[in-house]
Amino acid sequence: MVHRQLQSRGITDRRVIAAMKWIPRHRFVTPRGRGGCYEDHPVPIGFGQTMSQPFMVGLMTAMLELTGRERVLEVGTGSGYQTAILAELAGQVWSVEIIPELQFPARRVLADLGFFNVAFRIGDGRLGWPEAAPFDRILVAAASSSVPQPLVEQLADGGVLLIPIGETDGYQVMTTVRRSGAATRTTHGVDCRFVPLRADSASAAAPGRGS
Ligand code: SAH
Repeated sequence: MVHRQLQSRGITDRRVIAAMKWIPRHRFVTPRGRGGCYEDHPVPIGFGQTMSQPFMVGLMTAMLELTGRERVLEVGTGSGYQTAILAELAGQVWSVEIIPELQFPARRVLADLGFFNVAFRIGDGRLGWPEAAPFDRILVAAASSSVPQPLVEQLADGGVLLIPIGETDGYQVMTTVRRSGAATRTTHGVDCRFVPLRADSASAAAPGRGS
């Protein structure tokens, strides 16, 4: 998976490669999803949600340029796989998920694998996690038509926010917001496809398409 899907497509960050080599992706899916979980596509995890494609996890993590010290907010715990990669490569992770039934098993797997630098919350991640702000990095793993303002406000000086912006029922562009003092600079990266960032858990739990 790492060689064929990541390195051959230009993801060379050694720490990202090492983390994705050892963290067992199959632990984050139900037995039914295990067969295809190392393949080049997202994997259904229930409630209409998906575990992101390995390449997308590698790309987003590489774009965060983690050194091991960062305070990272993740919006959309989902399976917890991306959470584990962040926990391995950053200092401390705060992860928010709107569907409790997804986050509870993710918490268990992360604890089993020995990740204790993650704080979890059930709620609307568009509001961020004000009590733990500011964050050096914010990663949103669901699509939005615009950048939620609370997330920009919770970025530290020099911080980076990654979020797929575009049609929430179609394609998006991986968007980077960098904060420098009071100013922000927004840049647009690759096309991508994520499940929508939802306003409530009931709509998130409705059957939907994968990303
Ligand atoms: N990185 C995760 C991605 C899961 S898909 C993985 O690879 O497993 C996106 C996740 O975002 C879903 O679990 C979905 O329930 C969650 N989500 C959607 N809207 C949200 C919101 N407003 N706040 C927090 N989580 C949200």
